[in-house]
Amino acid sequence: MAVQLSPENLKWRERARKVAEEVVRPLAAKYDRLQEYPWEIKKAIADAGLMKVFIPPEYGGESGSILDLCIVVEELSRACGGIGVLFAVNALGSMPIVVAGTEEQKKRFLPAIARGEKLIAFCLSEKFAGSDAGGMHTSAAADGPDYLVTGEKKWTTNGGAADIYTVFAVTDPESKSRRISALIVEKGMKGFSIGKVEDKMGIRAVPVVETVFEGVRVPKENLLGGTPGLGFKHAMMTLDRSRPGVAAQGVGCAQGALEFAQVYTCRRQQFGQAISSFQMVQQMLADMAAKVEAARWLVYASASAVDSGAPDVTKLSSLGKFFATDAAMEVTTLAVQCFGGYGYMRDYPIEKYMRDAKITQIYEGTNQVQRMVAARALIRESNALSLLLDKYIPREVQRGVNDGTAPLPAPGSVPEATGSRPR
Ligand SMILES: Cc1cc2nc3c(=O)[nH]c(=O)nc-3n(C[C@H](O)[C@H](O)[C@H](O)COP(=O)(O)OP(=O)(O)OC[C@H]3O[C@@H](n4cnc5c(N)ncnc54)[C@H](O)[C@@H]3O)c2cc1C
Repeated sequence: MAVQLSPENLKWRERARKVAEEVVRPLAAKYDRLQEYPWEIKKAIADAGLMKVFIPPEYGGESGSILDLCIVVEELSRACGGIGVLFAVNALGSMPIVVAGTEEQKKRFLPAIARGEKLIAFCLSEKFAGSDAGGMHTSAAADGPDYLVTGEKKWTTNGGAADIYTVFAVTDPESKSRRISALIVEKGMKGFSIGKVEDKMGIRAVPVVETVFEGVRVPKENLLGGTPGLGFKHAMMTLDRSRPGVAAQGVGCAQGALEFAQVYTCRRQQFGQAISSFQMVQQMLADMAAKVEAARWLVYASASAVDSGAPDVTKLSSLGKFFATDAAMEVTTLAVQCFGGYGYMRDYPIEKYMRDAKITQIYEGTNQVQRMVAARALIRESNALSLLLDKYIPREVQRGVNDGTAPLPAPGSVPEATGSRPR
């Protein structure tokens, strides 16, 4: 798939780069140390109109395109991975409302998020339900005009800072396919509180907390989409669309670390010459650059597929997520190597890229799970491919074709793991 950036895409890049260079980069180390929400940076992001990028124009936004979102996340992450996610998590929280909210819900919640007046969080994971998100325990029991939400969510990014929380909970414990619904919980609702605040390896500028629901009374008009039982589907639709954003966070971290390595290796002298003149250092730089470029264009392709309304974006979203975030970890680690001992010290920005990059391999579906999702899609595709290719592959391995005795395994049949679909 060819991807060419449009003038509109480039405009978003310009806007984000300005905020990244003027506000984010100078403050990145401060908030990494403090591990406090950087309200001054959030204000600069909102004032620049960047929060409008992931909200459709009908609801106060300016773009609504996933490719534009990725470009903004990449630019912010190039200066600070923590700020990249501080921004992107609002897209993650908003996405369920964008893709599945009722018209009334979209009009009620999205404009304030687009203006940057309200922040939003996404509450899916629990202590005992990570990759197996469908195994959640938080419940929402119908009670007259309300739902009573009870349980705990783990690792809610933006928790405490956010005003709105998209919360996934069990509404029908007996149902296999329609067990879960999403509800929109608002700050200040009685029984809703913030639990443990996590002390993290990276992305320290943005809070990650436990969110606690003790019989929170949520009116039924806050049930996402108005129909119960569709929560898991809505979560998966959201993650298909948000994963390019996490991948873009990886691309931004990798690009930022590469740029530091380019400059440093030309400045640092050993054996009477710049270390950039040594072929093994050059190999590191070249490998890093190749990985960043390959990751960037795969991410843009996956984002463009979502924007074009392609019916099945899961495979491309998963490929982009694990490839770009693995590239981010490799590139940021090599960048530390290029810096030698200075790379290991907190006095300089380079080690932070490595710490910030690590989380991208874990959240919004671990890279192991993304590989599994992509592989299943590939196996399903073999059904159509076999019509074209069967006659070219060894017949002796195709049991049942030669002697007609054994049944031919159906191409495209995917060995299913037990339990619900991993995210
Ligand atoms: C900093 C941070 C921020 C987060 N923000 C949010 C947020 O805002 N909202 C939210 O809902 N969640 C959030 N999460 C949760 C995150 O999405 C989960 O951590 C992630 O999905 C993995 O779940 P887990 O940690 O329970 O790991 P587990 O599921 O226990 O996985 C542990 C290991 O087992 C592997 N594994 C598990 N199942 C399989 C399988 N079937 N096949 C192969 N390997 C497997 C995994 O790949 C991993 O290597 C956040 C997490 C962190 C650390």
